[in-house]
Amino acid sequence: MKRIYLKRGKEESLKRFHPWIFSGAIGHSDDDIEEGETVEVMTNDNKFIAIGHYQIGSIMVRVLSFEKEAIDQQFYEKRLAVALDIRRKIGVAGNSNNSTYRLVHGEGDNLPGLVIDVYGKTVVMQAHSVGMHTDREMIAAALKNVSNGEFENIYYKSETTLPYKAELGQENGFLLGGSNEDIAIENGLKFHVDWLRGQKTGFFVDQRDNRSLLEHYSKGRRVLNMFCYTGGFSFYAMRGGAEIVHSVDSSQKAIDLTNANVELNFPNDKRHKAFAEDAFKFLENIKYDEKDTKPHGPYDLIILDPPAFAKHKDALRNALKGYTKLNQKAFEKILPGGIIFTFSCSQVVTKENFRAAVFTAAAQAKRKVRILHQLHQPADHPINIYHPEGEYLKGLVLYVE
Ligand code: SAH
Repeated sequence: MKRIYLKRGKEESLKRFHPWIFSGAIGHSDDDIEEGETVEVMTNDNKFIAIGHYQIGSIMVRVLSFEKEAIDQQFYEKRLAVALDIRRKIGVAGNSNNSTYRLVHGEGDNLPGLVIDVYGKTVVMQAHSVGMHTDREMIAAALKNVSNGEFENIYYKSETTLPYKAELGQENGFLLGGSNEDIAIENGLKFHVDWLRGQKTGFFVDQRDNRSLLEHYSKGRRVLNMFCYTGGFSFYAMRGGAEIVHSVDSSQKAIDLTNANVELNFPNDKRHKAFAEDAFKFLENIKYDEKDTKPHGPYDLIILDPPAFAKHKDALRNALKGYTKLNQKAFEKILPGGIIFTFSCSQVVTKENFRAAVFTAAAQAKRKVRILHQLHQPADHPINIYHPEGEYLKGLVLYVE
């Protein structure tokens, strides 16, 4: 196995089990290491410290193990077995009421660069590193073994998640099986998953617990689900007994998916309507009371779950402004006594940043606001304690007087 040698003193973060090695930490390396190859990482004084996938970029090695061991199918089987065991313990796997969960959450499951979501008998696997792409067949074989035949189809979807510079010519497609059955269940609610064309792996599985909480606040409420995508929050609100549910997304495709999913659970239910519109424009057009002549609303339960406003650190300031603007609009428009579920899924926006942005929004709208719940990603998106960067989803449930 080829080796990489760190500069003197650059092993400190590895001693604390952080799984990334940045290019600046590397002193020299063996010749001709290929992207995606598994390498041994040595300290400057030639001691083994880790083993990982090599890649060209700012993160040059993603650590798979801090022990000397072969990275083979057996290695992946061990890691996947632990991941599956955790999901069974949480109660999201092996549960007839729920067939949707994240089985592997990258660094959170000690498999940096790999994401695996389960939708019933179909598993969607996504490589975010060249090394995981290289090992994909081995991982698929390991998955099949570990699930005891439960996973019949493995769809590989990495066209947009791998560095295009690596020129892997990657294609999406099935590594196992090939079923088109696309209905999965989350907490007893059905939805279509479009793993071929959908965003990410087809459905946002990270909001399951937060959707459940929303259900309990929905009775008799007039609900507005902004950035609805496949409508997850909408059908939970309907089951919770909402009076009306309006879903908004700028993408017509998302609106079609939302309508299809609502229909699947609540056929011909007139309480739901979906709008393909820009969120900010829609919020502008919400009436505040019955005398107001604006076309939509009023609402007393609003969900704000926008896409990541900041994908990189340099975009942070603008992102925070975006969160403030969006939340301010919702504060201005929500009925007295209303509830807001507001989220940020930008990894670079910290809990504190986000709370400050929402605080500014509340002050600018001059509303009395209380925090009822502080939300985060669910247990099947675990955070490796040595890798705090794995924390990304945060949310607040607010009471607006
Ligand atoms: N809440 C969803 C996930 C939201 S993903 C769930 O529970 O599954 C973010 C969504 O925001 C995407 O579907 C995207 O189409 C939509 N979006 C992005 N910009 C928008 C805008 N300006 N107005 C409305 N929707 C927007």
